[in-house]
Amino acid sequence: MLTSAEIRKAFLDFFASKGHVIVPSAPIVVKNDPTLMFTNAGMNQFKDYFLGNKKAPYTRAADTQKCLRVSGKHNDLEEVGVDTYHHTMFEMLGNWSFGDYFKKEAIEWSWELLTEVYKIPKDRLYVTVFEGDPAENLPASTVALAKWKQLVAEDHIVYGNKKDNFWEMGDTGPCGPCSEIHVDCRPDTERAQVPGRDLVNKDHPQVIEIWNNVFIQYNRKKDGSLEPLPSTHVDTGMGFERLVRVLQGKQSNYDTDVFTGTITATEKITGKTYGFSDNRADIAFRVIADHIRAIGFTIADGQLPSNTGAGYVIRRILRRAVRYYYSYLDYKQPLLFQLMPVLAKQFETVFPELQQQLDFVSKVVKEEEEAFLRTLEKGLKKMDDIMAGSATLIDGAAAFELYDTYGFPLDLTMLIARENKLEVDEAGFRKEMEQQKERSRAATVVDTEDWVGFQEDQSSVFVGYDQLEVETKLIRYRKV
Ligand code: ATP
Ligand code: MG
Ligand code: MG
Ligand code: MG
Repeated sequence: MLTSAEIRKAFLDFFASKGHVIVPSAPIVVKNDPTLMFTNAGMNQFKDYFLGNKKAPYTRAADTQKCLRVSGKHNDLEEVGVDTYHHTMFEMLGNWSFGDYFKKEAIEWSWELLTEVYKIPKDRLYVTVFEGDPAENLPASTVALAKWKQLVAEDHIVYGNKKDNFWEMGDTGPCGPCSEIHVDCRPDTERAQVPGRDLVNKDHPQVIEIWNNVFIQYNRKKDGSLEPLPSTHVDTGMGFERLVRVLQGKQSNYDTDVFTGTITATEKITGKTYGFSDNRADIAFRVIADHIRAIGFTIADGQLPSNTGAGYVIRRILRRAVRYYYSYLDYKQPLLFQLMPVLAKQFETVFPELQQQLDFVSKVVKEEEEAFLRTLEKGLKKMDDIMAGSATLIDGAAAFELYDTYGFPLDLTMLIARENKLEVDEAGFRKEMEQQKERSRAATVVDTEDWVGFQEDQSSVFVGYDQLEVETKLIRYRKV
């Protein structure tokens, strides 16, 4: 069985052999782009090449990119741990053509890699093509279709709508029709009963999308219109953890060697056993194994948890993980920081930035855990009281109190409510939030991030996050 490290290397070696320059992953945290907080796809770092704002220094590139999908257009947070193939942070393997090769080569190479290098049986693979969209005057993908017809049986080609087969990074930016590859991992008996093509893009846990080949031809503008780009490009993304799961013959991404290290460490620390089922303890194991990666790599890339913006996204993920181990693994002390060395070691040769800043990251995570654990117990009791009193809905004021007094992010309150078949008045919560902002503005409180850097002599010099990498040696961080 190939290890995950061998699988990653085989991808990069394959595209290097086809003339691609292997480039490093961009940081997971996006600075200087008002349209995006975190890298959500491999193509983000190449956006300017596609738009023609900058000239690419090479015409073909490949890499593995750290991605995070917890906000904006691509938000998978609610699936994580509940299903077995959506993560918050994941690696996206990708190959790109900047004005060089187009549909024919991209499709041929993806097929060659999957069937000849990785040796996935052809009859388990299904491909999708864009059926077109009259409303936007977008034609069906005839070139991609013709190419696929040379490679796969016609009953393994599925026509897809704009949601699945027209890829966009966000509300604006480079985009285009795409052709995806799905793998049917079900046992033969099940495959004989229901053809895999009927299950493509239907959230079946064993018929999963692994690779997206996007043919970038348009720029989506602010007013919603599409403008053709001066040249055409290829942008592909393959979910690394899903690929490993397929090649290692597992039922779940969490059963692969990408995750078993941190799951085993969690078992040792908590004394609980991961049972590969759907009960809440097992979901907790998966959520922790997933969230620890998002937290660790994002902090290592310079985004500290805080009360606003991208920092709050990280704090929300962290608090979500704390609540899972606290409630479902019955572990009442900081846990995540103890897993950080395991994670850092595992990724030392791929993403060394975590190992390099291990002490700092662990310290930040531990303090965050301690802070939330101080109010979690009381907050959960409060939540129980609220739920005992409300028939179907948690009102905005109650959700706001949980947020303001007990540090419960809204999505955590909603998660707990959902587990108890209740809903939360989101609009009411936001109204309370606005009112509080008004009050703070009136009191001229400065809305600032709450991890602040101090120089060693403790004089209070705020350094800002852009300088984090350079400044960590000089600066100690302290929570305010
Ligand atoms: P899905 O339909 O499964 O949500 P997607 O169509 O949103 O995936 P793309 O934007 O096409 O995903 O991204 C390219 C590839 O990245 C996907 O084919 C998949 O293998 C992988 N991928 C996407 N989202 C995730 C995620 N949250 N966790 C792990 N892998 C992912
Ligand atoms: Mg998705
Ligand atoms: Mg999809
Ligand atoms: Mg897709």
